[in-house]
Amino acid sequence: MALLELQGICTYYGNIQALKDISLSVNEGEIVTLIGANGAGKTTTLMSICGITAIRSGKILLNGNDISSESPHKIVQMGISQVPEGRRIFPQLTVLENLDMGAFLRDDKENLKKDLDEVFSLFPRLAERRHQQGGTLSGGEQQMLAISRALMARPKVLLLDEPSLGLAPLIVQHIFEIIKHINEERKTTIFLVEQNANMALKIAHKGYVLQNGQIKMADSSEKLLANEDVRKAYLGL
Ligand code: ATP
Repeated sequence: MALLELQGICTYYGNIQALKDISLSVNEGEIVTLIGANGAGKTTTLMSICGITAIRSGKILLNGNDISSESPHKIVQMGISQVPEGRRIFPQLTVLENLDMGAFLRDDKENLKKDLDEVFSLFPRLAERRHQQGGTLSGGEQQMLAISRALMARPKVLLLDEPSLGLAPLIVQHIFEIIKHINEERKTTIFLVEQNANMALKIAHKGYVLQNGQIKMADSSEKLLANEDVRKAYLGL
């Protein structure tokens, strides 16, 4: 059974259909990526999973349980955390306070110290800057903080919305290495939405190509990286 499964999701903004019958699955332990151009519906897919944007039809299953009508905070408690596009951290709060916010819905507060140490070992830069306001960090550091804040909820599935957006290539490289590390070492399952198809497919096990709200292709990352249409349309080759 897949850990996260979308079955025939349709999502609308008013009369405009943003997602057209989206089905996909993410198995435990995998990194799965959803690639697509601007406006293809990637963010809408994540917002639908999180319960923030209501779906009109279809089902979203976590461990086989239908979560389609759960509230966003219940979905976080059930094990799905999102790192939103544009690293929406709390700029006025310190690094530590931002991380506390990520753990807000947990009821096992006794484990927080251990998780904080783990996050700080993943991102030593954040440890050094723990008392600094989030808004004073660089773009890359803010992305690290956004990822760490999501990890503080101890998710079963981590959703990442375009972590590479607006970051310099070297920083992007570092962020992707960390994502791979989180998957391999923390055994966190990852659903990664990206316009940077090349980087995303290189760390993912499996990929889906989204175009105009529809899944156009689904395959292993190696096969997608070698696919002529994908290379032309998404890899600029
Ligand atoms: P991007 O890379 O720009 O974030 P995306 O693939 O994430 O693109 P979405 O943001 O999911 O795409 O948008 C899918 C479609 O839905 C687009 O046509 C977009 O204009 C439309 N859309 C997104 N949000 C809204 C909204 N709040 N109201 C109306 N239409 C919206």
